[in-house]
Amino acid sequence: MTQRKTRVRFAPSPTGPLHIGGVRTALYNYLFAHQRGGELIFRIEDTDSTRFVPGAEAYITEAFKWLGITFDEGVGIGGNYGPYRQSERKDIYVKYVDQLLESGKAYVAFDTPEELNAKRESVKNFQYDAHTRGEMRNQLTLGDEETQRLIEAGEKYVVRFKVEPGEEIVVHDIIRGEVKVMSDILDDKVLYKSADNLPTYHLANIVDDHLMEVSHVIRGEEWLPSAPLHVLLYRAFGWTDTMPEFAHLPLLLKPDGKGKLSKRDGDRLGFPVFPLEWHGADGTVCSGYRESGYLPEAVINFLALLGWNPGTEQEILSMDDLVRLFDLEKCSKSGARFDYVKGLWFNREYLINTPDAQLAPAFMQILEGNGIHTTAERAAAVVGMMKMKKINFIADLWPMCDFFFTAPEAYTMDDKFTRKNWKEGTAAEMQALAQKLDGLNDFSVESQKAVIDAWAEATGIKPWNPWRVCLVGTGKGPDMYELAAFLGKDETLRRMQAAIAALPA
Ligand code: GLU
Repeated sequence: MTQRKTRVRFAPSPTGPLHIGGVRTALYNYLFAHQRGGELIFRIEDTDSTRFVPGAEAYITEAFKWLGITFDEGVGIGGNYGPYRQSERKDIYVKYVDQLLESGKAYVAFDTPEELNAKRESVKNFQYDAHTRGEMRNQLTLGDEETQRLIEAGEKYVVRFKVEPGEEIVVHDIIRGEVKVMSDILDDKVLYKSADNLPTYHLANIVDDHLMEVSHVIRGEEWLPSAPLHVLLYRAFGWTDTMPEFAHLPLLLKPDGKGKLSKRDGDRLGFPVFPLEWHGADGTVCSGYRESGYLPEAVINFLALLGWNPGTEQEILSMDDLVRLFDLEKCSKSGARFDYVKGLWFNREYLINTPDAQLAPAFMQILEGNGIHTTAERAAAVVGMMKMKKINFIADLWPMCDFFFTAPEAYTMDDKFTRKNWKEGTAAEMQALAQKLDGLNDFSVESQKAVIDAWAEATGIKPWNPWRVCLVGTGKGPDMYELAAFLGKDETLRRMQAAIAALPA
């Protein structure tokens, strides 16, 4: 086969929020395109008007923007193969439907939904195919003239693909190898509906992949059953030489590995299955990775490893690493368990490795929500002191960090840490420490450390835990010098005096 330029596409139908599995599909297309110097197309498959959901397209676009998955051409971008929204390509499809009709590879059918339902009820496992099409109301039973007359009389019709029985169909799948089926199992799929003048998914998808010179179709496993029909369509059009190569990605499975991942699993176990929060017209709200506090880089890394791995121990992989290492042929055939706990781990790893200043805005937002206004520098400083503690999200910081911004409300021996560390004589020791600190002109960590470490050594006093009681009110927080330097001398001394006054001498 001749070497073609790598052109892949992500082609969602705007029927609701994009599922996390769809995001993984887009990501694999992105990685594949980038590592081969190819192009990634963003096409909107909106020919099923009954399933169209307003806002879905905008949602999908925003999700990819957040995730850093970019497209080279398509809806909202442009390119030489447009328009890229299928509802804007109506005229193009008509031509190809006519081509199939003229060559006898498709036929017109008038069966109403009621007639089809009646048939399905009376014939067990009814399938519209070579065995049954002779009993139905279509061009083959009515003849061309009558068909033409009915069309002109305005009767609604569909165009069906005429699947010939007894043919072996081989789908060459990069991940699954050769998938063989007999054409007999396929039905005469509807390709076009006169009611809305629109093609169905199958026709539009094939015509567009052909016209847009798509070289590889990388999509979810749920589309594998459609692939034999697609191969037949390529044959019917005479396009087999330029037929794209297929790769059907493994399903995402429930966290316990039993069955397909669903939105309900997310609700039940408390993790999102959508990239962004989604507000349905019926008032339903679906949680999103963005709003739940995940970093987009962590989501990308986590998703990339669901169904593929580099074959080494390395787990933290940037987008550049992924582009370099990704191997479509090494994707697994079997489903990938959606281990959301691993997703939390990834987020934590990325939090730790993201510069504090970059995390500050998100933390500031949480502080504001708790009535605390501070500078980006101070927010970043707290993030830096605390992010190594056991947190998965920036939001986890707040309950661990209140004391940086507000003095303890009360000092009490009811607190276990206080009771354990505030003994007879402690108040006097804290008074001595306060005096030492007061004498410092430079209140930096280094300056405090030099003076206080020496003082503790000389006197044998171990001031750390009681000092923590003074500044925090209990046994949490960062290194004491760091905390005191952050609070500044005045606030440090104020809290120490408050503790000394409140707790027993
Ligand atoms: N419109 C289909 C979807 O919603 C595209 C499937 C394909 O990639 O062929 O996923």
